[in-house]
Amino acid sequence: MIDLHCHSTASDGSCTPTELILMAKQSGLKALALTDHDNTNGLPEFELTAKKENFEAILGIELACKVPDQLRCHIVGLFIDRQCRQLQEMLTQIVQWRNQRNVQILERLAEVGKPLSLEFVKSFCPGKVLGRPHIAEALVARGHCQSRKEAFEQLIGRGCPAYVPRQAPAPQQCIEGIQAAGGLAIWAHPFSNSGLNTRNCKKIAMQLKEAGLDGIEAYYSMHKPSQTKAALKIAAELGLLVSGGSDFHGRQFPTLKLGVGCGKLKVPAEILPPLRQKALERRQALSI
Ligand code: AMP
Ligand code: FE
Ligand code: FE
Ligand code: ZN
Repeated sequence: MIDLHCHSTASDGSCTPTELILMAKQSGLKALALTDHDNTNGLPEFELTAKKENFEAILGIELACKVPDQLRCHIVGLFIDRQCRQLQEMLTQIVQWRNQRNVQILERLAEVGKPLSLEFVKSFCPGKVLGRPHIAEALVARGHCQSRKEAFEQLIGRGCPAYVPRQAPAPQQCIEGIQAAGGLAIWAHPFSNSGLNTRNCKKIAMQLKEAGLDGIEAYYSMHKPSQTKAALKIAAELGLLVSGGSDFHGRQFPTLKLGVGCGKLKVPAEILPPLRQKALERRQALSI
């Protein structure tokens, strides 16, 4: 088994890149991709530890983009060159948007009587990409909320008083940024968060494919077996590669485990060679 989607302390996970590699090895996984939100800062340590441990590490990222009709899609990039300028410029822009939004969220929290200073929130963010998970932790630590869940449900989740939407690139920009870095662009958790039925999922997959999408994350912790089956069918019909992962975040989502997700996830190692091959061809074409 393999796992091609997880988060470290460089975004909103609670394990360091080194801890992730050691856990993956211990659980018998054959490969692990680190796909932190909007940044590549965990990748040097991830790569170094993998080398020391003789373990296959795939360098990745996860970006959010907006598609028409208010729907948000997440695109995972796999096998990326973290030094690619085009990708890094896009990440700088995304982090700037995030920082502007964080200030707005804190203003709204103050308005509803739950003030937090930016400095205090930053103390919950070991990495450089500060987001709502860190604000949720700070709200709990200040006693404004009982739990992170309550923070999202009552204050900072969509539709709540301190919710501020985030600016995000268009799908094509995300896909281009990832591919410029030699990576594969994968539509992450197509059935999760978005409440899509199979027909709409296929429609969006077709739109994303027009924009250059390489693959679809058919195996995912929160996919029902019928959704995995539907995603595999869509991939076959559209000629997309298949990927899969747990979306492990550590103690942020404690019921979710690396590799096995909620317990039943199995991402077959057989999906890796075609992904590796396409990434190799892309790198050769770009001479990187
Ligand atoms: P942001 O990118 O700042 O909008 O935050 C999104 C992140 O918040 C997701 O990647 C999740 O890790 C986390 N998140 C979103 N909704 C919830 C929720 N209801 N409970 C806990 N964490 C959540
Ligand atoms: Fe996350
Ligand atoms: Fe995601
Ligand atoms: Zn994720």
